[in-house]
Amino acid sequence: MTTVPPLFPPHAVSRLRSARLLRSTRPFLARGGPHGERCGGCRLILSHCLCHLRPIVPTRAGFCLLMAEHETLKPSNTGWLIADVIPDTMAFGWARTETDPALLAVLADPQWQPYVVFPGEFVAPERVVSHLIAEAEAEAEAGAATDAQAEVAATPTKRPLFILLDATWSEARKIFKKSPYLLPFPVLSLAPEQLSRYRLRRSKRDDHLCTAEVAAICLGMAGETQAAQTLDAYLDVFSDHYLRAKQQIKVSWEDALHQQLAALRTPANTEL
Ligand SMILES: [Zn+2]
Repeated sequence: MTTVPPLFPPHAVSRLRSARLLRSTRPFLARGGPHGERCGGCRLILSHCLCHLRPIVPTRAGFCLLMAEHETLKPSNTGWLIADVIPDTMAFGWARTETDPALLAVLADPQWQPYVVFPGEFVAPERVVSHLIAEAEAEAEAGAATDAQAEVAATPTKRPLFILLDATWSEARKIFKKSPYLLPFPVLSLAPEQLSRYRLRRSKRDDHLCTAEVAAICLGMAGETQAAQTLDAYLDVFSDHYLRAKQQIKVSWEDALHQQLAALRTPANTEL
């Protein structure tokens, strides 16, 4: 099986995947179907490649993905799509026994206000926030802020950095519990109303949100509406291509999903 070089330089998730493949003791066998060639840019077979549709939307907000080891190898991993669309996406492999110094450097970088995105019900309430800076500030003024909220409010000029645990739920809990360097940061908990609004808008039936969907909600909370909608539309097109590739069905390039993505792609977000 061969991989075709990508259109774009490799992003953080792509580099993490390459490093993981190099460390692998046995060759990773991704099925490529009858025409096994895969695109190095989107991981799909060439007939279903969507790289030329990839939107790039620079944002004030950034993402820091902490990825369980096997996530980087999954061709369906959606952390990859966040890195496709949002230039300020960093990605690190998570291991209990060692921490990448580059991750600690990102977390210590004063330009960022990190938020650990995680369900608040599993966290001490004083660490949980449900809004970003502007709202937290308003609450602080009203005298209703907790310590964590007050701390966020004190640093309004910082860019939000969403730390996403890109893993299965049980792995994500482990990452959350066993990463002491995440302790200083507020936990951004997505409110049930927010989640149900999102599901309603997207006509999603199941309860599970993938990492790219969580990222889109975070972007919406940060006021980055264009980026949030673009990431959702790109995820829809990717999922469509991925399933069609699996089922060996041709891509319908002019259908509603593709038109929706095309409508969001402006000249400003199609160039590097
Ligand atoms: Zn591609």
